[in-house]
Amino acid sequence: MTETEKNYRELNGKITTAGARLIAVSKTHPKERIMELYELGHRDFGENRVAELVEKHQALPKDIRWHFIGHLQRNKVKAIAPFVHLIHAVDSKRLLREIDKQGKALGREIPVLLQFHIADETSKYGLDKASAEPLLSDLKDDPVTHAKIAGVMGMATYTDNQTQVKAEFSSLAKSFAELHNGTFSGDDGFREISMGMSGDYPLALEAGSTLVRVGSLLFGKR
Ligand SMILES: *Cc1c(COP(=O)(O)O)cnc(C)c1O
Repeated sequence: MTETEKNYRELNGKITTAGARLIAVSKTHPKERIMELYELGHRDFGENRVAELVEKHQALPKDIRWHFIGHLQRNKVKAIAPFVHLIHAVDSKRLLREIDKQGKALGREIPVLLQFHIADETSKYGLDKASAEPLLSDLKDDPVTHAKIAGVMGMATYTDNQTQVKAEFSSLAKSFAELHNGTFSGDDGFREISMGMSGDYPLALEAGSTLVRVGSLLFGKR
């Protein structure tokens, strides 16, 4: 067994045992590294740059499920709309409307997650209580038809303080529960909590993550 295979099997085992799915974050890594995991049966990969994702999608097997995990600019939605499996980080009404528009043009439903700001750093993107409210009420007045809101996503603060990270993941799980019982009640498709990376995925799993995005633990340093 290669080192990659060993790491993958161990990590994937832990994550599936916890009832979540592993997204292998392959950004900056060459296609050969993706194919190593593909050959082991893995299909979910995450990228955060549009040009890189488009290029990899063109070159690699078509049954790969591509997750766009980075900040997405509206003028780049069109490039990934035909094939993207899930857009993780929607944090504005305008981005959501653009995804809906591109989905409509293609006759394709595009699954998305609402990104919430849970970390203490100001540099991170995402909705907070105040900005989520108008987005949700706008949706009530004028529902999207081709952007399918499938859950929430968040990134914890990059810190060794486990108590803090735990609290941040819990706050995302709470936002999910509120939406699940509120705006999205009765919607079986609203079910994902995308949280956890190489450094904090065990805490994310404890807090109820369903999608864990791991890069460096699988592929090594970028
Ligand atoms: C890069 C990235 C990851 C993976 O980070 P690692 O620490 O390498 O596991 C997860 N989520 C997002 C949004 C990222 O940009």
